[in-house]
Amino acid sequence: MARHVVVGDLRVQRIDRKDGRRSWTIVWPEGSLHTEADRFLREHEGSGTQKTYAYYLVDHLRWLERECLTFGTVQLRDLERYMGIVGAEIRMPLGEPWRVGKRPYGRSALSTAAACLKGFTCTKPLSASTASSARSSTSPGCRHGWTVVGRSSVTRSRRCPRTRWRAEGAARRHPKMLPDGAREKLLQTVNAARDRLVVDWLADGGLRIGELCGLHLVDLHLRENSACGECRTPHLHVCHRPGNPNRAEAKTKHPWQLERGTVTGGLIKRVSPAMVHSYFEYITTEYPRGTRHGMLLVQLHGADAGQPWAPVGARRMLGRAGKRAGLGLVKPHAFRHTFTSAVLDAADGNTLIARDAGGWASAAMVDDVYGHVDIHDPVFDAALRTVWGEGR
Ligand SMILES: [Zn+2]
Repeated sequence: MARHVVVGDLRVQRIDRKDGRRSWTIVWPEGSLHTEADRFLREHEGSGTQKTYAYYLVDHLRWLERECLTFGTVQLRDLERYMGIVGAEIRMPLGEPWRVGKRPYGRSALSTAAACLKGFTCTKPLSASTASSARSSTSPGCRHGWTVVGRSSVTRSRRCPRTRWRAEGAARRHPKMLPDGAREKLLQTVNAARDRLVVDWLADGGLRIGELCGLHLVDLHLRENSACGECRTPHLHVCHRPGNPNRAEAKTKHPWQLERGTVTGGLIKRVSPAMVHSYFEYITTEYPRGTRHGMLLVQLHGADAGQPWAPVGARRMLGRAGKRAGLGLVKPHAFRHTFTSAVLDAADGNTLIARDAGGWASAAMVDDVYGHVDIHDPVFDAALRTVWGEGR
């Protein structure tokens, strides 16, 4: 699911539990759990091995992503190739370099990595071809037939693998990120207040395009202390409505209701001052009077002027503006990746904060185990304000 959408920097996440224990797992850039990795790492709950394995595993998973290998298709020879590329003696072509500039693993690191990958690969459901390939390569000592232990004459690096991997993650750029300065360039390029709203709301809100185009005016609580009582600061409620005339539909289906004109529930997202500003600019200059549909984004021109604006229209507008601004093809989802990444940086890698800042509907994140951030938590608040560029 998420793995088809999100490419790149998987990371190790520490989880501090209420009883003081710590756990380690692996998450996708936007904060949702890597299900298979989490399942495997849970087997090592409460031991020092869990953290060690998490760091070995995340490198392997990043490599799988780079090689475009999925769990269903990974073969024993892929694992051998990986072990070869991190330092084991494997006689086969290894492909593109990996961990460039890093020393190969030493003997001890190789055997730890091999044990980790063996355990991990055996816990995931193997495809028939992988399973038979594994059996045919059986060697003594592994009941599953996976043996990917190598030898290396190179001495072990004394630098902490965690530090190295972090540095590597920071150096690589997410392929789906917006280019630097994209927001400013787009704001200068687009002509309509509506289109400036789209840029600001995607950039600061971390909204999906379907969520943005699906918003109704009643979903917006842009003043302090709104009647819903669910959030003190300006915010909006993403409400799943299957019957929107523009076919825009929120992906998340959190329960919501409209009572005496006030929306409660849905997915609550905080709104930045820039979002409030562009909203009022649009509403006071371009929003048609007397519309009945009550939706936020409308078509501005043509026979359907005043009618709800479909997500495809917003996509095209961004695509055209991106080209005019010399940014190449700008896709709405790139704003979301950029937003999440910025929150992660600002919140010092706290994925709970990043997830809640974007309102992720991550089914993989088990809510009752991991909980939610209080949306007025000072760290959460500071992270959002940093991302919004306040105090700059
Ligand atoms: Zn509200």
